[in-house]
Amino acid sequence: MSAPEGPKAEGVALVTGGTRGIGAAISEKLRADGWTVATLGRNGSADVTADVTDADQVQAAFDTIHERYGKKVLVLVNNAGVTADGLAIRMPDADWTRVVDTNLNGAFHCTKRGLDDMLGARWGRIVNISSVVAERANPGQANYVASKAGLLGFTRVVAREMGKRGITCNAVTPGVIDTDMTAALEGDLKSAVPAGRVGRPEEVAAAVSFLVSDDASYINGATLAVDGGLGA
Ligand code: NDP
Repeated sequence: MSAPEGPKAEGVALVTGGTRGIGAAISEKLRADGWTVATLGRNGSADVTADVTDADQVQAAFDTIHERYGKKVLVLVNNAGVTADGLAIRMPDADWTRVVDTNLNGAFHCTKRGLDDMLGARWGRIVNISSVVAERANPGQANYVASKAGLLGFTRVVAREMGKRGITCNAVTPGVIDTDMTAALEGDLKSAVPAGRVGRPEEVAAAVSFLVSDDASYINGATLAVDGGLGA
């Protein structure tokens, strides 16, 4: 289930928003798989500090990784994400912009620079963390749903563009996962999950680990749901 020794020896796995929640579990799992992992976040607990909404900061983060590890980014997990819920009619423009900037534009900034590294190695894995809500209406989350649906379209295009170059780009759509982001959710939503429970960050990390592995080399442009059946 592990990636070939070449990429693991030559590359870094970069996990945006890797400091807590799902991203922290993904980082831990990829480390256990043998990858050198760099976490990226806005605060000092990240290996590399950057705000994904800022293209210059993302470029500087990649420069730092190249200098510090002497390796290219061959695995990129676009996991950094935020919510700012509210009905569309009353949504402050700033809330729309912040969510789309983080969840969608941030993934673009990181992917563009990650692809540069991966093209040189003719091997790469990109996993975009979307959401179960990307494929359904979820009133009160116009900004979040738009950003996560956009991420699925972006995933498919990158997969097509890079398919001949040994690079895959896939998406994972988690359901309700037990993290800071969902701590305030009502019991009703949680009880709607067919599995009868919320998910654990480690369950999302397992799916990411698989998509990064060599066993998944023929999976490209796919969306893998990790939602206990919520999106079925
Ligand atoms: P958390 O709120 O627990 O963690 C979010 C992470 O993203 C933090 O590490 C945070 O670090 C980072 N982050 C936020 N904004 C930025 C930014 N502008 N630049 C860099 N890093 C940033 O979220 P979860 O672990 O719950 O969610 C992780 C991903 O999974 C998100 O994309 C979310 O949308 C998605 N998801 C979560 C679900 C859930 O039920 N929890 C369900 C479906 C999808 P810092 O604040 O230090 O910058």
